[in-house]
Amino acid sequence: MTPRTALTIAGSDSGGGAGIQADLRTFFAHGVHGLVALTAVTVQNSLGVQGFTEIPADVVTAQIKAVASDMGVNAAKTGMLATAEIIRAVAKTLDEVGPFPFVVDPVAASMTGHALLREDALEAIRTELFPRATLITPNLDEVRLLTGVSVVDAASQRTAAEALLEFGSQWVLVKGGHMQGTTDCVDLLSDGREFIELSGPRYITENTHGGGDTLASAITASLAKGASVPDAVAAGKKFIERCVAEAYPLGAGVGPVSPFW
Ligand code: PLP
Repeated sequence: MTPRTALTIAGSDSGGGAGIQADLRTFFAHGVHGLVALTAVTVQNSLGVQGFTEIPADVVTAQIKAVASDMGVNAAKTGMLATAEIIRAVAKTLDEVGPFPFVVDPVAASMTGHALLREDALEAIRTELFPRATLITPNLDEVRLLTGVSVVDAASQRTAAEALLEFGSQWVLVKGGHMQGTTDCVDLLSDGREFIELSGPRYITENTHGGGDTLASAITASLAKGASVPDAVAAGKKFIERCVAEAYPLGAGVGPVSPFW
């Protein structure tokens, strides 16, 4: 039987832990056929990102149109988008080939602190992609860059969610995984009416590379199969918990969350 399809619009990680590599194996684990519009080729290993080269914006557009016109897209997500020009091209193309559920993971930098966007591109994600998004999935660093809100507790997490929804997405997931001093990992999902706290265990590991990508693509896979946003996010959280619990060391730096379980 033909499976559902999910499209990742994102960059390649030569270390195989994040980016399209994480997205494709997450789609596979959900029984969803993965489609790819590559935006950038990063040069990286467990120690960090050494650099990247972006794909021309018209080639990103052509990849999306090629798969959407022939194979069909049941849901899509964005990861690393590299430049404002690519972001504008993606927004315009999605208007032409959509609508379908669309998850925006506003990737700005790697956890090792290397920029994955050229200057001004985060602003383009906010203005061009958030209004088109079913769900946005910022981590706490991205929340601060986008809103100026430092999330330190439940109250500031709610303030951040409300501020982010002003940018026009249907739903926001404010991920609490990077919050200091908490034993649980509490994420807040909201559409402005409902505020749903999702709490799960915090696993202590050095190896979390690719965690954000894996969560966003797990949610996208469930949306491709027809789940509601709250159900897709709850299932995605369970999925990433197991990936983090079984993360492994690889190389001298940060190892990946695990696809093996
Ligand atoms: N490389 C690519 C291509 C990515 O898409 C991402 C995250 O989205 C990263 C690196 C950074 O991953 P992490 O912050 O988990 O190390």
